[in-house]
Amino acid sequence: MAFALNLYPVTYIARYNPETEKWDEEWLESDKVTYDELMAMSEADRKAVLDKRNQMGLPSVSYTSQYAYSCFEGMKGFPTKDGGVAIFRPEENGKRFNNSMKGLYCPAFPVDQYVKASVEFVKRNAALGYVPKYNPDWEKTDYADADSIYMRPFMNSEGAIGVGCSKQPYVVICATTVSAYFKKGLDGAVITNRIRATPHGTGYIKCASNYVISALAKKEAEQAGFVECVYLDAVHHKYFQEGSSCNIFFVLKDKTIVTPELGDTILPGITRKSVIALAKEKGYKVEERPVSVKEVQKKAVECFVTGTAAGISPMSSITDLNGKKTVFGEGFGPVAKELQHELKGRQYGSLEDPNHWNTVVIPGNK
Ligand SMILES: *Cc1c(COP(=O)(O)O)cnc(C)c1O
Repeated sequence: MAFALNLYPVTYIARYNPETEKWDEEWLESDKVTYDELMAMSEADRKAVLDKRNQMGLPSVSYTSQYAYSCFEGMKGFPTKDGGVAIFRPEENGKRFNNSMKGLYCPAFPVDQYVKASVEFVKRNAALGYVPKYNPDWEKTDYADADSIYMRPFMNSEGAIGVGCSKQPYVVICATTVSAYFKKGLDGAVITNRIRATPHGTGYIKCASNYVISALAKKEAEQAGFVECVYLDAVHHKYFQEGSSCNIFFVLKDKTIVTPELGDTILPGITRKSVIALAKEKGYKVEERPVSVKEVQKKAVECFVTGTAAGISPMSSITDLNGKKTVFGEGFGPVAKELQHELKGRQYGSLEDPNHWNTVVIPGNK
């Protein structure tokens, strides 16, 4: 299944109560249709069930629907080799979500409540069969086509019409099945002349409004035959920022790994942070600093993008604004492959987890 919406039956909704200054929690169970029952249905019946799951009773007219005043997270649960299920670094997502809400000047959802709700969320859906089964065949390709649970926590405002900041936000956790993220048949990345984020803007938080530009730039890239678009900085138009919804890395000829340093225009990816840590553990020199298009054209031998949905995805080439194409070659380069093996191995539990990145939700038989 591709990156399409197939919601799970159980949804978590919390609502901020300004009087108690607490979040009132609720579990919405749209239906009790198990995963196997859903798959056995006719297409029309299945669509009816899935459509109903998307009716969460949120206000139709709100700061969110009118002004894209919202923020979200992308987080994955992985079936592990021992037969269990684990969520990858949920406290990191919880911290970022909290920071996004602070950035939006609305009451921020507590990190511990975020982690607790996420764990309970996976358990409740797993009880209805919404949990992928570990398949040893995935190991052959370092989990390139492996299944996982894609969780999408988000904030939604109360009903409202004038431009303003939310005082009584909702926090929702829902999930859908996913596998491959990038469209098949397209190839390479292209630099876009659109600007994703400006200094003093909202590029450092995962807020909904940032993704309108990304949707446009990505459509333009795909129409031109590219799989991904890459942004340059807003001030100099010289330095790489990131991809449409992924961070970007380059491997230079001397094996140094470089990635743009964080600031207020780059989203602090948890995959980015994990990849940097893994690369350092493996003995690579990793530099977080400005990376210019010129430097990449002269010195880079690999390029890959990272994100929860994208994993580690190699880019076969980068085409600049003048149409000059720098070719890295098809598929994974050796460094991207090594990092992919390590990251996915830890996430799916075929390798040790020395940094305790996994939060076990359902224990395996070890
Ligand atoms: C979500 C996102 C990323 C990747 O973050 P992860 O935590 O690794 O999933 C990178 N860039 C942007 C713009 C994003 O929205």
